[in-house]
Amino acid sequence: ATPTALLVGTGRGAQLGVLIKGPEVLESTRRVDTVVLDKTGTLTSGRMRLVDVVPAAGEDRDDVLRLAAALENGSEHPIARAVVAGAAGALPPVEGFASRQGLGVAGTVEGHAVVVGRPRWLAQEWAQHLDDTLTERADAEAARGRTVVAVGWDGRARGLLAVADTVTPTAREAVDGLRALGLEPHLLTGDGSAAALAVAEQVGIDPAHVRAEVMPEDKLAEVQRLQGEGRVVAMVGDGVNDAAALAAADLGIAIGTGTDVAIEAGDLTLVREDLRAAVDAVRLSRATLRTIK
Ligand code: ADP
Ligand code: MG
Repeated sequence: ATPTALLVGTGRGAQLGVLIKGPEVLESTRRVDTVVLDKTGTLTSGRMRLVDVVPAAGEDRDDVLRLAAALENGSEHPIARAVVAGAAGALPPVEGFASRQGLGVAGTVEGHAVVVGRPRWLAQEWAQHLDDTLTERADAEAARGRTVVAVGWDGRARGLLAVADTVTPTAREAVDGLRALGLEPHLLTGDGSAAALAVAEQVGIDPAHVRAEVMPEDKLAEVQRLQGEGRVVAMVGDGVNDAAALAAADLGIAIGTGTDVAIEAGDLTLVREDLRAAVDAVRLSRATLRTIK
C-alpha cells in the first residue's frame, strides 16, 4: 500500500470524527468480519441514574440507600456515581473500603460489614442471597434493561438498587450499518443477562451473540476465543475493563468520551459520542484501500 494514500485516509478520518493512531491501522480493518460491542458506555450512554431502591422485608429503604451510597462514594464506577447522586443528605464514613473490579464494593459503615455489587457475587462470595420477593423484583427490573445491584450487611441481603441507562439514539443504526458492511455484531458485558438481552433486542443483536456477566479479564478471552474460530475481530469499548480486549482485537475502537486507558489501547478513537462513526471508519478504510489497489 502506498503510504500517501493511507495518510489521505487518515486525514479524512479526522474530518469524520475518527482519530486513527497510524496509517497502518487502516490495513487491519480490511478483513474484519466480527464486531464485539461493550454494552455500558458504548451501546448505552453510560450515564446511569438510580431509579429504584427495594428493601427486603423488614428492612428500611433509607438504611439500604444510605449504607450503599456511603460505600459507593469510594468507587468511580458509573453505578456508584448514580447511587451516590440518588442519596440525599450526608453520607457516613467508611472503614476498610475495598473495591473488586467488575463485582462491587465492601467496607464497614455505621458498624456494619456492608457489601454492594453483582447479586451473584453477594450470593457466592458472601453467602447473601436475595429472597424470592427480591429475586422477582430484580428479574422485572433487569427485563427492562436496568442494572440491578444487591446490598447486604452482616451476612444478609438487605435490598436491591436498580439503575437505568439509555441506549444511545444512534446505536441501532450503527449496528445495522456494521452488519451491512459484513461485520457480525456481538455484545459483551459484565452486567446480568436479562439486562444484556434487553439492550441487544433494542439494537438488533442476535441473542445467541450476547455474553453477559463477563469478568473484566474475560472480555479479553472472549475476543481471543472468536479469533480462535478464525474470525477477524473489531472491539468497541469505553472502559478500563475493556482495555485488554481493545488491545488484543484486530481493530480496537475506543469511545472518545471513555477512559484514557481505553483510548490508549485502541487503534481508533471515535471523537463524537456516536457509534455511527465506527461504521464510517470501517467504510473509509475499505474505500481507501480500494483506491490503493
Ligand atoms: P460493564 O461490562 O457493563 O462495563 P463492569 O464489569 O464494570 O460492567 O461491572 C459488572 C457488574 O459488576 C455490574 O453490572 C455490577 O453488578 C457490578 N459492579 C461493578 N462495580 C460495582 C460498584 N461499584 N457497585 C455496584 N456494583 C458494581
Ligand atoms: Mg463500558
